[in-house]
Amino acid sequence: MKINTHYLDLEESYLFSEIAHRVARYTEEHPEADVIRMGIGDVTLPLCEAAVQALHSAADDQSKKESFHGYGPEQGYDFLRDAVCRYYAKMGVTVDVDDIFIGDGAKSDVGNILDLFDKDNTVLIPDPVYPVYRDTNVMAGRRIVYADANRENGFLPMPDPTVKADIIYLCSPNNPTGAVYSRPQLAEWVKYANDQDAVLLFDAAYEAFVRDPELPRSIYEIEGARTCAIEFCSLSKTAGFTGMRCGYTVVPSELTRGGASLRALWLRRQTTKFNGASYPIQKAAAAVFTPEGMAGCRANLEVYRENARMIAGTLDELGIWYVGGINSPYIWMQCPNGMTSWEFFDFLLEKAHIVGTPGSGFGKNGEGFFRLTAFGSPEGTKEAMRRLKELLG
Ligand code: PLP
Repeated sequence: MKINTHYLDLEESYLFSEIAHRVARYTEEHPEADVIRMGIGDVTLPLCEAAVQALHSAADDQSKKESFHGYGPEQGYDFLRDAVCRYYAKMGVTVDVDDIFIGDGAKSDVGNILDLFDKDNTVLIPDPVYPVYRDTNVMAGRRIVYADANRENGFLPMPDPTVKADIIYLCSPNNPTGAVYSRPQLAEWVKYANDQDAVLLFDAAYEAFVRDPELPRSIYEIEGARTCAIEFCSLSKTAGFTGMRCGYTVVPSELTRGGASLRALWLRRQTTKFNGASYPIQKAAAAVFTPEGMAGCRANLEVYRENARMIAGTLDELGIWYVGGINSPYIWMQCPNGMTSWEFFDFLLEKAHIVGTPGSGFGKNGEGFFRLTAFGSPEGTKEAMRRLKELLG
């Protein structure tokens, strides 16, 4: 018996446990400190009313023989796939219902999609990055090359034609940086992927935060994307579904590699290893896409957006360099006075009782940067920004 020894190559993921440890130690020593948490990547507002109603009604369905639902289609119920299809259409993007796969969130699908690809592929991942892209490939023993994101390129690395890659990850709006690719920039990535016969894995988990109509929310807004890109989306941040678990993945019929349809392979993978997202959750998800559901979600998003605006406005006033915040719930700021990410973490915790996330935890290029999130309460965010101005002004 041999284990998958690639698991032993994973670096200890100590970022959030180290943050929790330092905060716990500080609050133990200073019980009077009113600590404001701006490090969380989880939503804090409840579900919209339409989703809650749908959950209740789906529970009732399950209580009666006539409306009871057992196993559903592995790729999702048609009522939800149709709703997702119409959501794309409203963005001006045509997606075929058969290209849409409902899942239990973007994280699982981002990891599971790798079942379709050979171990010997080279993977291109931006740095800093959502750690799941890196770790799922380390687990499979794939070779990883990094695209450097930094202040010079606005944390939006562009393709280097001298670098050969088979699988490419892009996340826009980005976690952790909040940076968003423009249409011409994504067009370059799509061309690069098609030229190399690579597959582009596009994570659009934060698309709903894009407010600038000039910025793309889906990779399929870019010509040529249907022959190279798979898109991952989630209701987690759009509709507060982090504890509900529902997302969708789009694999276009035109996407073929090695003579095989990736959509057919993904369907085979899902029907073999996945038994579908639960009926009540899919009912609630479908309610999110109704006009009432969309209005409820927009109201919540507006609260987070206002928080982001407050944070960005404060950094503008302080003359601190940052990206994100306008079309994203994340703000990625440069640590002041040349501090390292962890030095600034301790400084902010001790002097202003604010908790953020050290950028170095997301990759080597994150050193010297710091992530603040807009998912807190408006009162907490306002008070944190008052303290930040007092501390750094
Ligand atoms: N993709 C990115 C970039 C994320 O930041 C997250 C969650 O934080 C996910 C995917 C996971 O989303 P889900 O809750 O749908 O699994």
